[in-house]
Amino acid sequence: MLSRRKFLKTGLTTGAAAIPLASVLGAAQQPEQHAATPASSIPAYQLIALPARLAKSDAATEPWQNRVRRVGQTNMTEHDPAVMNVNEWADYWHSSKVDVVFVSVTGILAFYPSKVPFHRHGKFLNGRDFFGECVAAAKKRGMRVVARMSPDLNWGDALAAHPEWAMRLGDGSAQFSTEEPRLFKTCMFSTYMDDYVTAVMREINSLYDVDCFYTNGWPPIGMLPDCYCAVCSKLPATGTPAYWRAFNDRVLDLWKRYDAIAKEKKAGSFFFANSGGGVHASVNLDRLGKTIAWFQADNQGRSYEDPAVWGCSLQGRACSAVLDGRFAANVTAAYSTGTPGWRNLSKTPEETRMWFNETLASGMAPYNHFVGAEKGFCEDRRWQKVGEDYFQWTARHDAHFAARQSVANIGVVMGQSTQLLYPGPATARVRTYMRETTDGLYDALLRGRFAFDYVHEDRLEPERLKKYRALLLPNIAMLSDRQCEQLRAYVRGGGSLMASFETSLYDENLSPRADFGLGSLFGVSRAGNAVGTNGNPYYARIEAPQAAHPHQILDGFRDTNWLAGAQNRVPLKPVADPVLTVVPGFVRYPPELAYPPVSQTSEPAVVLREEGASRLAWLAGDVERTYWLTGHGDLLRLIENTIRWVTRDERMLSVAGPGFIEVFCWETAPGYAVHLLNYSNANAFHGWMQTVEPLGPQHVSMKLPGGARVRQVELLRAERDLPFHLEEGVLQFTVPAVGDYEVAAVTVV
Ligand SMILES: [Zn+2]
Repeated sequence: MLSRRKFLKTGLTTGAAAIPLASVLGAAQQPEQHAATPASSIPAYQLIALPARLAKSDAATEPWQNRVRRVGQTNMTEHDPAVMNVNEWADYWHSSKVDVVFVSVTGILAFYPSKVPFHRHGKFLNGRDFFGECVAAAKKRGMRVVARMSPDLNWGDALAAHPEWAMRLGDGSAQFSTEEPRLFKTCMFSTYMDDYVTAVMREINSLYDVDCFYTNGWPPIGMLPDCYCAVCSKLPATGTPAYWRAFNDRVLDLWKRYDAIAKEKKAGSFFFANSGGGVHASVNLDRLGKTIAWFQADNQGRSYEDPAVWGCSLQGRACSAVLDGRFAANVTAAYSTGTPGWRNLSKTPEETRMWFNETLASGMAPYNHFVGAEKGFCEDRRWQKVGEDYFQWTARHDAHFAARQSVANIGVVMGQSTQLLYPGPATARVRTYMRETTDGLYDALLRGRFAFDYVHEDRLEPERLKKYRALLLPNIAMLSDRQCEQLRAYVRGGGSLMASFETSLYDENLSPRADFGLGSLFGVSRAGNAVGTNGNPYYARIEAPQAAHPHQILDGFRDTNWLAGAQNRVPLKPVADPVLTVVPGFVRYPPELAYPPVSQTSEPAVVLREEGASRLAWLAGDVERTYWLTGHGDLLRLIENTIRWVTRDERMLSVAGPGFIEVFCWETAPGYAVHLLNYSNANAFHGWMQTVEPLGPQHVSMKLPGGARVRQVELLRAERDLPFHLEEGVLQFTVPAVGDYEVAAVTVV
């Protein structure tokens, strides 16, 4: 619980004149009633004014897809032409107020009487133009149509005629679908993509009025192909930086050619494809972001391997890092995701809604997706009302969901090449290494209620970085010399950095450096190879624990000389006056031997440096990942304290109140939208949401840019107005309760 004194210091230290407590809290609400977030009471902070509002955009010149607010898809099966009621299908999506529907052309099975060789007709098609009927029904109701293709698989007759189309194993044999062995996997470097896919696109353009083209199943998401066909055998080895460049070149070359074919029919048409994968995407997101007209975040639900509830929000942050206002939609599977997963059964409404909530909160358009129609329109109809109700609700508040720029003063460097190509340190080669690192920092940022964006490693130009007080580098192992220089320039300009473990120890080709590329900037130098854990991981010793004024990164650590270290560390050479030093790991079992043979060293566990307005913090261990693996409170506190220190406790937004929530704040056309996602739920890290566990009051403070006045603060889920207080530019209001999600929409004048 926060003490009254602490709360006053916390919620109302705004940098502006003192604000009367009674104007923020109702008389019946005593601040003592509001528990702190689990690991940290939100500390005193300095509220920083939001940036100047962007100029109004000209809606008339926006591409049509940028105005799309809702997307619908019944993913058609071979059987659907025999059983689906086309009018019921179209009526449902129209009633859900979707702007655009996906209709299957495919490439595996034609849903129209295709004449393209090897475009096999579905066995229930019987010469019918099912695709054309669906397009007409959608258009009649004012919905646009995406022509959905799937270039990833084809049948044996195509393989016999075109053996060069197949992905091959090392022994030269063709690769087949693991579920349907009659389907072979097509190679994206083969002429299948140059000849067959383009023939299907041109046939569709010649026959129908579609608005754009999309490929499912290609490019792969979060992984790189592994193929030994005649073409691929001449490429660099898969999984290497050189292969990744060749992969990106091929993807973007095909993408641009397909886009040109889409535009042969009409200028507003375009091509887009499967994207997603969050920070672990396969296609270089910097390059893709400059090309893409529609980011299709194929990120449909949680899995056992990646169970964190924020999977969709994280994807939205990755999109914001690269899209510069281009359109993104996140696909929500209303069907059952996971393994095993029932492709044709609804998931819980609570889980479906949370994925929609995260989609909206992170600035993407919600997209409802179910597979197969069957029996008119459908055997399982439970998902339909869930999505329809949700979409109808969003349609009442569209203006507040169109995000213009994020309110955030912390940038987390994504390190896409590290995510995709770095195998983990030599001490811990695990496939999940960087995902765990990402989730650890994400969790800590949420618990500390920091406002943050993702920043792509290839977008470190000063113009992009100037909005951030600090950049965080969670084991961004691969950084080029140029990227290191960009980070040095950022620091010279007054920016702060926090980095950990093997950050900058490799260049963009994954070639190890003798010492950290950012070593001189942080004042750190490598003393040896990474050290892992054999039993007890290393500990961090608090130097001068009795000091009258302990360093801020030690806030809250009392009655101990030791803190948790991390599972792995890169040993550093001694520095002057270290705050934390390494107690090397030792035996964990038997307990008789569980004591440190060496209890004090000069090896720093953390190195801190101040240069003018900049603060630099280097964590020697993989602290973020070890926090994710263990949940250790020392690590959470150390990460939070260090972020507070490097940001000088500056915040652009404060949300104080109980519970584990994720916060987004966007500038919108009417004003601002503060999104609160309630993750205080037994199923936040396992399975699906089954319940909603409401949270109590959340106190929001933000300092508006000069002269802004507030007309209204409205809760979009509760659909009612809120009282607010605005004094000397500081806007404060209290959201009295949060179910699974709430949005406080601020209208400024
Ligand atoms: Zn190949």
